[in-house]
Formats: sequence, C-alpha cells, structure tokens
Amino acid sequence: MQLTQGPLRISFCARTDPLPWFEALRKELPQAQLEAWSSGAQPADYAIVWAPPQQFFDEQTQLKAVFNMGAGVDALLKRKIAAQLPIVRLNDAGMGVQMAEYVCHALIRHTRQFDVFEAQARAGQWHEPVPLERGHYPVGILGMGVLGERVARAVAALDFPVLAWSRSAKQVAGMKSLFGATQLPAFLAQTRVLVNLLPLTPETENLLNRSTLTQLLPGAYLINVARGRHVVEEDVLTLLDSGHLAGATLDVFRTEPLPPEHAFWRHPRVTVTPHIAGRTLVPETVAQIAGKIRALEAGLPIEGMVDRSRGY
Ligand code: NAP
Repeated sequence: MQLTQGPLRISFCARTDPLPWFEALRKELPQAQLEAWSSGAQPADYAIVWAPPQQFFDEQTQLKAVFNMGAGVDALLKRKIAAQLPIVRLNDAGMGVQMAEYVCHALIRHTRQFDVFEAQARAGQWHEPVPLERGHYPVGILGMGVLGERVARAVAALDFPVLAWSRSAKQVAGMKSLFGATQLPAFLAQTRVLVNLLPLTPETENLLNRSTLTQLLPGAYLINVARGRHVVEEDVLTLLDSGHLAGATLDVFRTEPLPPEHAFWRHPRVTVTPHIAGRTLVPETVAQIAGKIRALEAGLPIEGMVDRSRGY
C-alpha cells in the first residue's frame, strides 16, 4: 500500500449525522481532511461507511481501505467493490459488552421467570411458581467470533452450561465447542437456550428453520441478535404455537423496521427490540478506526480484515 502524501482524506458515507463522527475523528486524526460523501466528491484515501450506495464505490476508486461502521458486512458485500480494496469490519468497539448485557438480560428474564412476574404484577397477583433449574438450561451460542465469545464468557459466569458452535474447531475453557455442519445436530440436541451470533452468509441464511429448531431441547428459547435473515419467521411462530419453543427475544428481523402487522409484535411469548443489541458507539468506533488507519499508514497489519470468500 502506498503511504499517503499530504493530509489524509477520509470520506464518510452513512445515513446518520456526520458531525459527531467528525468531532471524534478530529481528536484522533487532527491532520485529516473529512468529507461527508456526495456524488462528485474528491477522491478519498479511506472511507467510513454504513450501507453506502453502489455509486459511492463507482466514484471513489482511489480508496486504500473501507471501514464498515458495524461488525456485520452482509449488506456491504452486496456492493460491487474492487477485489483488491481491503474491507475492515468493526471488532467489538464496545459492542461485545452490550451484547453480553442483552443476552444475559433475555436469558435471566426467561429462566428467573421475570416475564411471568411482570404479568402477575399487572394482574395484582402474588404467586410463587416452581423455580426453574439453571442446569436444565444449557445455552448454545451459534458463532464464537468477537461477539459470541464475549457473550459466552458472560453466560458462563452466571454458571449456565455453555456450548459453542463455529465454523472451525475452537478450544474455550469451561465450555463444549462444536464446529461445522456435521456437528450442528449434536449442538442443537444439547441446547435449550439458543443464542444466534453468526454472520449472515449464504451458508447461514435461513439456518434457523423448522428442521433445526425442532432439534433443540423441548421448551427451547431463542435469542436472535445477529440478522433477521438467519431465521425463517413463520417456522418460529409455528414452533411457538406447538410449544416446542417456549419463547423468543428477537432484536433483528427479515424486514426492518418490523412491519406493524407482523405477528411477532402481538405474540405473548415474543419480545421485540428494534435492532439495538449492539449499538455502534461513536468514540469507541472512531478510536478503533483511527488506530487502524495509523497502522496501515505505518505499513503494519490490522485486525478485522473481511475475508470476502467466507463472507465475514
Ligand atoms: P465474527 O467475529 O465474524 O464471528 C463470526 C462467528 O461465526 C465465527 O465464530 C465463525 O466461525 C462463525 N461462523 C461463520 N460462518 C459459519 C458457518 N457457516 N458455520 C458455523 N459457524 C460459522 O462476528 P461478530 O463480530 O462476532 O458478529 C457476529 C454478527 O453479529 C455480525 O455478523 C452481525 O450480523 C451481528 N451483529 C448484530 C448487532 C445487533 O445490534 N443486533 C450488532 C453487531 C453485530 P469461525 O470462528 O470458525 O470463523
């Protein structure tokens, strides 16, 4: 990679107010020239993007790297991007702890029956149901990447049995690790609370369907914090109605915002949140991206390079 002569030019292309981003970038990279992209803009050295239009890549042909403002690059990889242009995803940047909070909250709400107590309180009822046993709620985490691993550690710290499933073999102390398509049935058969933290790729799209979800332990609970397109939503509704699924906490959907007529809104055992499980935080994100730009300019390797052949 050629080192930049003169001030670095950084293009920002996202449907969000660029001002807080520029303020944080000026602190990190005071010499950089910052521009909110519009058609016809000067060529930039680096880009910070979220769901940019194809025109952005058609026009910005001198980029040395493009930084995605999130961990998931499924939307970005739909664009035609020059094969040699490095795509860099966000590595945690404050999202891991948020994911851990979200998943632990959903898990505890279900296993400590807070949903039951909320309903009882609304009805003015004082009643102690039989407590659920933690050991009967093995938590299976699909995807042991940056976020999955952080969530797995948080869940294990609450003394739940934890299983993990990834593409390649892993050794994580204190939990069972399974990998690859052939070990998926064994993973599902031992899981009662399923947490999805996979990237959306051609291999993982629609992975959570009637056939796979039926393999979970009876009375299973689904927590989806990855992408809506992992889940066949009608199959979740069918399995909720049959009782095989006890409930679901869903942060992501096939169509976002979730349409007002969608059955998930009104289902008594489904909790819907508006894609907020791991939010992009400006200071942490800018600090990480600026650090990576400095490293690239110094000719050093960086973490978080997307492997386009894998799709994540
Ligand atoms: P990551 O570091 O890329 O980790 C992905 C994990 O999934 C890896 O462990 C990988 O296995 C595994 N995997 C990928 N394809 C697989 C396959 N075909 N079979 C089995 N395992 C497979 O991703 P991350 O940073 O943890 O983020 C995960 C996802 O969370 C993102 O892609 C994004 O969609 C979602 N997300 C959602 C929100 C939200 O607010 N709801 C926020 C941030 C991110 P290997 O380890 O073997 O490679």
